Amino acid sequence: NAAIADDDKYKGHGMLAPFTAGWQTTESNPLVIEKSEGSYVYDINGKKYLDALAGLWCNPLGGNEARLIAAANKQLNTLPFYHSFWNRTTKPSLDLASELLGMFTANKMAKVFFTNSGSDANDTQVKLVWYYNNALGRPNKKKIIARIKSYHGSTLVSASLSGLPALHQNFDLPTPFVLHTDCPHYWRFHLPGETEEEFSTRLATNLENLILKEGPETIAAFIAEPVMGAGGVILPPKTYFEKIQAVVKKYDILFIADEVICGFGRLGTMFGCDKYNIKPDLVTIAKALSSAYMPIGAVLVSPKVADVIYSQSNKLGSFSHGFTYSGHPVACAVALETLKIYKERNILDQVNSISPMFQDGIKAFSSSPIVGEIRGTGLISGTEFTDNKSPNELFPPEWGIGAYFGAQCEKHGMLVRVAGDSIMMSPPFIMTSNQVDELVSKYGKALKDTETKGHR
Ligand code: PLP
Repeated sequence: NAAIADDDKYKGHGMLAPFTAGWQTTESNPLVIEKSEGSYVYDINGKKYLDALAGLWCNPLGGNEARLIAAANKQLNTLPFYHSFWNRTTKPSLDLASELLGMFTANKMAKVFFTNSGSDANDTQVKLVWYYNNALGRPNKKKIIARIKSYHGSTLVSASLSGLPALHQNFDLPTPFVLHTDCPHYWRFHLPGETEEEFSTRLATNLENLILKEGPETIAAFIAEPVMGAGGVILPPKTYFEKIQAVVKKYDILFIADEVICGFGRLGTMFGCDKYNIKPDLVTIAKALSSAYMPIGAVLVSPKVADVIYSQSNKLGSFSHGFTYSGHPVACAVALETLKIYKERNILDQVNSISPMFQDGIKAFSSSPIVGEIRGTGLISGTEFTDNKSPNELFPPEWGIGAYFGAQCEKHGMLVRVAGDSIMMSPPFIMTSNQVDELVSKYGKALKDTETKGHR
C-alpha cells in the first residue's frame, strides 16, 4: 500500500510505540485516515470508525460541517492572510477577540493573544507572566508550578510544564524554572480513610509547603487543566480548586487555566472554570475553538495582567512576542463561525442531553474485573485498567492492556485514546443517541475481548 509505505518513509511520528510504551499505533502499522463524515472517519481501505476521541479531543462538530467549510472558503477568497504585527490587524481576528472576551465570564478578561496551537499558547503564557513580573520590578518571581500527570503541550516550555515522564526523559526536561506538585487523583493517591475534602486539603498544604520551601517571591504562576485530559481524564476532587486557589492567591501567584480540552462545552459548561468556580488570571484555549477545522490557539489575559503590560508607566517597552500566523484570518473566520454554531445550536444543551447516556453507559462497566476506575463528566471519560479494583495492582506493562483494548476498539470500528493502562474518550458533541449507544456497545465488546484475552 503506497500511502502506508510513504508514511513509513517520510513521516516522523511522535509519541508512538516503540518509543513510548503503551501508545496504540506502531510505526510499521499506521492507520491512514482519509475522510470524515459527522462522528465517523474512514481509513484508506474504506473501513468506518466511530471517532470516540473527536480527532484528538478537538473536533466537537465532527466531519464535513458545511458552515465551517463555507466560512473558510469565504475568507480565503477575501483575504487569505494578513498578519497582526504592530498596528496591523484583520477584521476576523478583531471580531473573534471580542467574541471570546464576551464568552469567558468566570473572571473578567481584557485581551486576547492569538497563537497557532495550545503548546505555543502555553509558552506565550510563561512569557506574559515573566514580562508582567519584570514590569512590576520583581525579576526573581519566575518559577511556574504545574502538576504531575498534567499535559500542556510539546514545545520545550509546554512539555516542561506537562507532568508526564515520557515528555521529559531523553529531552533534558523539565527546565529548572518549572516545578511539579501533586496530581489530584483521589482514587489513586488518597490515604486510607481520607475523604475527598481531606485529600484536597492535604494537596493544598503540600502546594503551600512547596511555595514556602522555594520562597514565594520566586513563584510566578500555577497552571492547571480544570479536568486533566491526556494524563488520564482526572477530575478534581471536592473542594480542590477552592483550596488551591486560596493558596495561590495568598502568595500573589497568577493562576493559568489550561482550557485546551475543557473549553467550549466538553464538561457541560462553556468552560471548565465555570464548572469548578475557577477565577483565573490567564486562560489557554485551542482545539474546539475552531472545532479543529483550522489550527488556532489563544491566551485570554485578565485586566490584572494586561493593565501592567499595557500601562503607560511600563518602562520595559513593547511585549515583543508573536507568530506570523497569530490571528490568521482564515483560522479566525472559522473559529468565529464555530462559536456561532455553538450558540445557535445550544451546544451546552446538546452536550448535557447526551452526556448522561454516555457516562452512565460507560460507567456501567465499572464492575469488570480488569477495570480499576471509570471516571468522567460531560463528554469526557477515562478508564484505568488495574487488577482487583486496586489502584496499586497494575497489570504487567508487557501485556500492554490499554493498547490491547485500543486495538479491539479499532477492530470493532471505533477510535479511542490509549495511554499506558488507561484509555480515554471525548466524543463529538453532535453524536445522536443512537451513536452514543453504538459507542457504549463497541466499548463493551472491546472490554469483553480484553477480559477474555487470557493474559493470566
Ligand atoms: N493543553 C492541553 C490541556 C492539551 O490537552 C493540549 C493538547 O492536547 C495542549 C495544551 C497542547 O495543544 P496543541 O497540541 O494544540 O499544541
